[in-house]
Amino acid sequence: MKNTLIKKIIVFAVSILLVGTNSIALAQNIQETLTCKNIGTNSAPYNYYTYQNMTSLLKSYANNHSDIMNLTSIGKTYQGRDIWMVKISDNVSADENEPGVLLMGAHHGNEKPSYEVLIYFTKYLVDNYEKNNSKKPANIDPAVDRVKNIVNNTQIYIIPMVNPDGVEANSRKNCAPNHGPFGHSKKNTSYGVNLNRNYDYQWYLIYLHPQFYVPWTQIRDKGPNYHGPYPFSENETIAVKKFVETHNISISISYHTFNQIIFYPWLFTSKPNKDEKLFISIGENISKINNYTLTKHLNLPPWYRATIGGSEDWLYGRHNILAFLIELGNSHAPKEPKVVSELCRVHTNVNLYVCERAISLNKI
Ligand SMILES: [Zn+2]
Repeated sequence: MKNTLIKKIIVFAVSILLVGTNSIALAQNIQETLTCKNIGTNSAPYNYYTYQNMTSLLKSYANNHSDIMNLTSIGKTYQGRDIWMVKISDNVSADENEPGVLLMGAHHGNEKPSYEVLIYFTKYLVDNYEKNNSKKPANIDPAVDRVKNIVNNTQIYIIPMVNPDGVEANSRKNCAPNHGPFGHSKKNTSYGVNLNRNYDYQWYLIYLHPQFYVPWTQIRDKGPNYHGPYPFSENETIAVKKFVETHNISISISYHTFNQIIFYPWLFTSKPNKDEKLFISIGENISKINNYTLTKHLNLPPWYRATIGGSEDWLYGRHNILAFLIELGNSHAPKEPKVVSELCRVHTNVNLYVCERAISLNKI
């Protein structure tokens, strides 16, 4: 009873705070307030996949390689787009007793390389699996054997675009209409929820300890980090939730841009998690491949302290999945083809490594 009262008082206090911060931030967010669209650039010379191009490519790959790849829709977005899930494994239509690896991109639609690396990885696995290694030792390609081992011994699940509406609009958030910060307004007040703040692990902490979490960055519906009226309020996060709850996943990477950082739980607190050593061991090996900094909450810059409701804390906190977040590169949409192809090449090696690590974890 007392707790409920305290909770109500805190929510009321935060609401008052919001009235003030809303007007200050109104000017800078005017574009986002009125429409769900472009907050960045997607210009030449690098030609990123559109949702439509990706869909066509994945469908043709799934048709032509149906022995090891299938494509299913795990849900539909507000604007009616399918959220595609690629599965790659031997005996792909069966649920086998092999460790699952979950790779996700584009929780934030303006973060272009986050899905590009996963489309590249899908092609890499399928193309190499189909190759026959020559009997002449000089012509043997080690990548082929590596891929065969991984595809035969894991179940790889790839959601290249968690937020396809955001990708098409080049928006950080999704494109569903908001009705005030708590969803009670009859008016359509703004568009879009930051999907990587909408998972439910410790979601309410922001109301209980607003002093630690710079709450207006997540509670203001017009802002770029708005966490939604309640956890799992969005089609996209519901789709991921349903999928994870019905599959066995050991390790996960969610790709974002940018800053060359590898994060691991917890992101909501500076306290260590119970598998800290294992996370550090895997994280350090990822860092050896991509040369990024392995870090967590304590070392974050101030604007990052509000990260509650991200997929990593939820995957680990609720499902015990070793979940990493990788911030790719140095910008949201690098234009140089060389830069993007290098991100794809290096993170293919990262993905191969975590798949192998999932196999070895399974044997413990
Ligand atoms: Zn992001």
